[in-house]
Amino acid sequence: MNLQFDETLAENYRSVPQKIRVMSEVWLVENLFCPCCGNSCIEKLKNNSPVADIYCGNCGEIFELKSKRNCIGSKIVDGAYRTMIERINSNVNPHLFVMNYSAHFSVKNLVFIPKFFFTADVIERRRPLSANARRAGWIGCNILYKKIPEQGRIEIIRDGKKIETDEVLKLYSHAKKLQTDNLNLRGWMLDVINCINDITSENFTLKDIYRYADFLKSRHFYNHNIEAKIRQQLQFLRDRGFIKFIGRGTYKKI
Ligand SMILES: [Zn+2]
Repeated sequence: MNLQFDETLAENYRSVPQKIRVMSEVWLVENLFCPCCGNSCIEKLKNNSPVADIYCGNCGEIFELKSKRNCIGSKIVDGAYRTMIERINSNVNPHLFVMNYSAHFSVKNLVFIPKFFFTADVIERRRPLSANARRAGWIGCNILYKKIPEQGRIEIIRDGKKIETDEVLKLYSHAKKLQTDNLNLRGWMLDVINCINDITSENFTLKDIYRYADFLKSRHFYNHNIEAKIRQQLQFLRDRGFIKFIGRGTYKKI
C-alpha cells in the first residue's frame, strides 16, 4: 500500500485545509477497502453533503474523513455542532475515518470509528466564531476521540503499517454486535464499556464495576437503581460476546 499523498493534487488550491482535504480524500478512495463489508473499493460522493464524503457502492455505508497532522490527540475538530447532534440523534451520522499524516504527507495512522459508537456525549460544542469572523456566530464541534471506547477505534494503519484486512473486518464485525439505534441504551453501554476498559486486570468482579457507580450516576442522574442497571448492561455485553461470566460474580474480558 502506497502511503504517500499525491501532492500534485494540491497545486490548484490555496488554503492548507483544502489541500489536505483533497489529498487525503483521494488517497483514501484510491487505497482503501470498505471496512464494513470488505468491498475492495470505496468512492467519493458526487454531491458534497455537509458531513459525509465517501460511500461504499456495495453495502451503501457512508463515511466521513477527518485528517490531522502529527498525532490524533484527544480531540478532532469537526463541522457544525447542531448538524452533528441532529445526525446522531436521528441515527443518520456517518462512520468516521480519522487519519494522521506526517509532515511529508504520508499516512501514519488511520482509524475507523463505526457510526454506532457516537453519542452526544462525545461531541463537544465549540465557542461561536467571533463577530469579526467571516461566519460570525457559527458553532462548530470537537469529537472527543479518547471518550470513544477502544472497541470502537479500529486501526487500519498503525505507525505506517497496514493491519491485515481480515483483522479489520473481524474487529468491525465484533464491534457491530454493539450496534443499537436506542440512544439511551447506547449511552449506557458505552459508559459501562469504558468503565470495564478502565479496569486494568483481565478479570473483574461486580464489586470492581460498582466502584464506578458515582461516575455513572453523574452521567445518568435520572436513574435511581444504578447497580441494577450496571448488571443489565453486563448481561447485554455478555450476550454479545464482549465479556464472559466465570462464576461467583466474576467476569472476564474477551
Ligand atoms: Zn461496504
